[in-house]
Amino acid sequence: MSDFWQRASAYPFFLSLFALLVWAIAGALPAALIFGIGMVVQLFFQLRNLAALEKWLNGPEAQPVPDGSGLWEDSFSQLNKLSQRHRKECELQSRALQQMEQATSALPEGVAILDDAYHIEWCNTLAEQHFGLDAERDIGQQITYLARQPEFVRYLSMRNFSEPLVLRDTRRDNWVLSVKIIAYGSNKLLLISRDITQLERIENMRRDFVANVSHELRTPLTVVNGFVETMHDMPHLENDMARRALQLMGEQTHRMKSLVDDLLTLSRLENEQNPLREETVEIRSLMEEVYRQGELLSDGKHLLQLQIESNANLAGSREELRSAFTNLLTNAIRYTPQDGEITLSWSERDGQLVFAVQDSGIGIAAQHIPRLTERFYRVDRSRSRETGGTGLGLAIVKHIAMRHQAKLDVVSGEGTGSTFSLIFPGKRIAQSQ
Ligand code: ADP
Repeated sequence: MSDFWQRASAYPFFLSLFALLVWAIAGALPAALIFGIGMVVQLFFQLRNLAALEKWLNGPEAQPVPDGSGLWEDSFSQLNKLSQRHRKECELQSRALQQMEQATSALPEGVAILDDAYHIEWCNTLAEQHFGLDAERDIGQQITYLARQPEFVRYLSMRNFSEPLVLRDTRRDNWVLSVKIIAYGSNKLLLISRDITQLERIENMRRDFVANVSHELRTPLTVVNGFVETMHDMPHLENDMARRALQLMGEQTHRMKSLVDDLLTLSRLENEQNPLREETVEIRSLMEEVYRQGELLSDGKHLLQLQIESNANLAGSREELRSAFTNLLTNAIRYTPQDGEITLSWSERDGQLVFAVQDSGIGIAAQHIPRLTERFYRVDRSRSRETGGTGLGLAIVKHIAMRHQAKLDVVSGEGTGSTFSLIFPGKRIAQSQ
């Protein structure tokens, strides 16, 4: 028999023994009376402990576990240990939570935890400032009721958080925030906001500086170029060295002019005050124009083909698209040796429109491909210069693609040729008028 049952049965056992003794000495009635009183005392004792337990359970944090006696003593002492362990765990957890809160409050970023219906579960001080929240008042509220900027509400409703959102003029004038949302757990969202006002200001200064310098250089360069050309063509110029020098000067000023023109084009494309001109671009005529330009540049050295497989037209800027298409074709011609094949194509794929230039040229090794659209990034510097490259062509193409929500895709391998594609989303298909 276990220790518990031994102890539990001791009292009834001795009570019964005593009652039997009384029965033998004084008869049945006194024995029954003694047994009954003994059992009532036992019942009272149990109920008193039960009442103490119930009282404790009603407010376990506020009072110590009661002292019991008999069998209850053991149970109460176990309960006491359990309650102390629980209290210690709670303290540890709350300390860890406090440290977490202190750490996130010290973060230079706004952080908020949202549920999947965008109710705020927690936020740090910077998030309060960025979105005009009050942690005490707004917990449980939907963030879109409190931060109502249309771009922010649209960003959340689209539920596509692959790219961060740039939010302007949130609370104060010219405050620029970068907002990122990361899903975690089964249905939680972490909202991270960063103040990028200063970064934007520096970026704008850089842009303005490049645009201004390029603009200022343009006029003197045109003048110098004009004089160099005139002098080079002078009939009385007999000195060979002077003619050669003038030719080189002409080439270099021409190169500088191309650079300045490309820098100005990039500045225009980057300028937010210069919105995309939306028009219906008739692709067939545009492709034919670009193709003819390519033929002139190739001068019969390559096998050029034009494939127009789709009649769909694009909604966008004809001038910008012409510049992007020409840049890609010009590159194909410049980086494809004589007798190589170059195909210009327009097609529809999975509801998207694809402009592609495929060449059988020198190709590009895989490690260079991700960096091609960086300004002045060239795989082979001297080759790019020899062929009149500025190193800005693909940066221009990338900007034009972005302005049309298109993607620039490059498939290439060293020595196996390249395919540069511009993939336009279905929403860019121009509706026939
Ligand atoms: P660049 O004026 O130097 O051609 P781009 O920005 O147009 O500048 O191109 C960047 C680099 O990408 C080039 O220097 C060249 O190395 C590589 N490139 C671009 N197009 C092709 C192509 N069709 N074939 C091989 N390399 C290419």
